[in-house]
Amino acid sequence: MELFKRDGTLYTGTVNTDDKGRMTYIAVIHCDRCHVINGQRLWIMGMNNGQPYSHTGFDCWTCGNTGIRGEREERLYTAEKLAKVNKAAATRAARKAEADRAALERAEAARLEKHAAFRAENAEFLRKLESLDGDFWVAFRDDFLRRAVAPSVRQIGLVEGEIAKRAANAVSAFVGNAGDKVTLTVTVERIITLPDNGFGVSYINLLRDSAGNLLVYRGLSDIGQKGETVTLKATIKEHQIRDGVKQTIIQRPRVLEVA
Ligand SMILES: [Zn+2]
Repeated sequence: MELFKRDGTLYTGTVNTDDKGRMTYIAVIHCDRCHVINGQRLWIMGMNNGQPYSHTGFDCWTCGNTGIRGEREERLYTAEKLAKVNKAAATRAARKAEADRAALERAEAARLEKHAAFRAENAEFLRKLESLDGDFWVAFRDDFLRRAVAPSVRQIGLVEGEIAKRAANAVSAFVGNAGDKVTLTVTVERIITLPDNGFGVSYINLLRDSAGNLLVYRGLSDIGQKGETVTLKATIKEHQIRDGVKQTIIQRPRVLEVA
């Protein structure tokens, strides 16, 4: 009768019987601490210039340079029994694969459901976010969807502010003509501080009148703080279109009144 190891290889050595009456053989456990190098078994720390090296000597303390760490009693199988064992193992593996696949499918469905719920809960914010083009806003949107955390007050403010600014810029028209001396009521929208390049700091003041027109003053005169509405006298210097937005450059502003 031919006998086989669990991996299907034919066994021809001594056959034992275990305490349950099953056929077994003694399998050796190979040492995994030492290596055969140039026909010699060595325990090594590593290789250096193709030479093995060790600080404590080349004898393997695990196996005493025998290459065998121990032995273990293993089952032997007839061809018929092995086929049954393999079939049972294949069935188990197939069941596990199916269970894993189903679990993965459920997890994916739950993830999609959660994502859809997040989108629905934040539909209004997302709609606003999707109306904004440009790399910054695309990255903002991707990050928001990836994190799936309700928008913070700061995030909402940022988006609302950008939408309001774009809407205002879209209606911005030129004010007056170059050389005109005008009296304007404007709100300070933003103050950009320019770096001091040896001539002192300078400021760019972005101003908005009640019709939504963007006015710009570059210089040192203090027009007011961000958010303040002031009435001032100034001279129209020139008209410019920047990033598609019509803007009126003013100079020599003199504040008459702070609202
Ligand atoms: Zn060894």
